Amino acid sequence: MSKTIVIGAGFGGLALAIRLQAAGVQTLLLEQRDKPGGRAYVYQDQGFTFDAGPTVITDPSAIEELFTLAGRRMADYVELLPVTPFYRLCWETGEVFDYDNAQARLEAQIARFNPRDVEGYRRFLAYSQAVFKEGYLKLGTVPFLSFRDMLRAGPQLARLQAWRSVYGMVATFIENEQLRQAFSFHSLLVGGNPFATSSIYTLIHALEREWGVWFARGGTGALVQGLVRLFEDLGGELVLNAQVANMEVESTRISAVQLQDGQRIAAAAVASNADVVHTYETLLGHHPRGASQAASLKRRRMSNSLFVLYFGLNHHHSQLAHHTVCFGPRYKALIEEIFHSNTLSEDFSLYLHAPCVTDPSLAPPGCGSYYVLAPVPHLGIANLDWAVEGPRLRERIFAYLEQHYMPGLRQQLVTHRMFTPFDFRDQLGAHHGSAFSLEPILRQSAWFRPHNRDSHIPNLYLVGAGTHPGAGIPGVIGSAKATAGLMLEALS
Ligand SMILES: Cc1cc2nc3c(=O)[nH]c(=O)nc-3n(C[C@H](O)[C@H](O)[C@H](O)COP(=O)(O)OP(=O)(O)OC[C@H]3O[C@@H](n4cnc5c(N)ncnc54)[C@H](O)[C@@H]3O)c2cc1C
Repeated sequence: MSKTIVIGAGFGGLALAIRLQAAGVQTLLLEQRDKPGGRAYVYQDQGFTFDAGPTVITDPSAIEELFTLAGRRMADYVELLPVTPFYRLCWETGEVFDYDNAQARLEAQIARFNPRDVEGYRRFLAYSQAVFKEGYLKLGTVPFLSFRDMLRAGPQLARLQAWRSVYGMVATFIENEQLRQAFSFHSLLVGGNPFATSSIYTLIHALEREWGVWFARGGTGALVQGLVRLFEDLGGELVLNAQVANMEVESTRISAVQLQDGQRIAAAAVASNADVVHTYETLLGHHPRGASQAASLKRRRMSNSLFVLYFGLNHHHSQLAHHTVCFGPRYKALIEEIFHSNTLSEDFSLYLHAPCVTDPSLAPPGCGSYYVLAPVPHLGIANLDWAVEGPRLRERIFAYLEQHYMPGLRQQLVTHRMFTPFDFRDQLGAHHGSAFSLEPILRQSAWFRPHNRDSHIPNLYLVGAGTHPGAGIPGVIGSAKATAGLMLEALS
């Protein structure tokens, strides 16, 4: 019997599979790796647990919706813990900004940097809330299949000055350079250059203010496990170590998928959560639609890659916040190099994850598990040999953290591992090793992004970072809602 198949168990694939299964569609979820989660993979080593990717959980209501639509309680599957401050932002000059939801505390800190910016921040918040209503609440979960959909959104986008960049818009409200950085870096969390990405992405600020920042007890991996359990409790089937090698097309429809081991599974409909270039080039490259769409996608701009370093220490650094953004000496120039230069910059800005601040169970007693990441160019921009660059960058970052944030780090080291652009490419099938798929610039957003349903093959769907609305957990869960709507409509 033909099956409804989802390829890839990232957050997008899982959320879609749950929606389908909850609606009574028997769904088969095929994942090539030995664990689900995709970018939210988990490493376990000597008693340390390392979430590989997403750690900042925003919009818990989108996650909860997956449980309630299935008639279950999220609390029976996973516990979300509030994180305060949301982030600690640090500069080399010694300034610190603890960013969270308490207006008075925020304004007091803003005033320390520049009293005039308190008023500017209030106006920025109002702007970001307006964008959030239009861009996230209204358009974040609806598919853009026709240009008419885009034209309909046009007047709102124009009113919100979506052609401006995130940084450009923040700069119209806020004077102080460090505060401009504090309120513009967020687009980097979804692979967007604050100097090029549409100001629509300032909505992330309002989204965090609206619902807070959360962390799953047991780590993001526990959230993935909760979603898998929900899917299986509903009767869905997840198969791990099941790499899809290609999709068969009969007439204009996908008729089956073939696995790497030769197994053939007849398909009624297929949704791909895999990288969009991989989907068209590798899985559908034998068909004219696959070849032409892959060629077109390869001309698009991919978002940056990341260098991620996971490490376990025999010491808990209690001076750290759960999430720290460590701004380096340069902001704009560094970001320009990350997005456009064919070399690795001498300096870096880092994101440091210290989950034991919220959940000590992620490391042995008295110890700490950590990860630190640096945005780096993708392989199509800087074709670096990460087998050489990786260990070098690791040593530079360890020395830097030890000097500025974590005294004694190298002596306390118990275990460490790296994830480089090569791993994004080889383990996740990411085009050019991009960490977030297509760069979220205006001309690659909404209708201009690969559509949630292919325009030539009506039973082929996309879900995840490469389709509308884009990367980040709220984004890919939103894409699952848009895609599920289309799939269920076709089935009814
Ligand atoms: C280091 C890092 C930190 C991040 N931090 C945050 C954060 O704090 N908050 C946030 O909201 N977002 C964060 N993000 C972004 C977020 O993690 C991603 O945008 C999101 O998880 C991507 O989900 P996805 O559904 O697109 O699928 P992916 O996670 O990309 O998963 C796709 C899955 O498809 C599988 N697959 C691919 N090809 C095949 C095939 N041929 N056959 C079978 N399976 C296949 C892959 O193995 C993978 O499991 C971060 C990303 C990274 C890399």
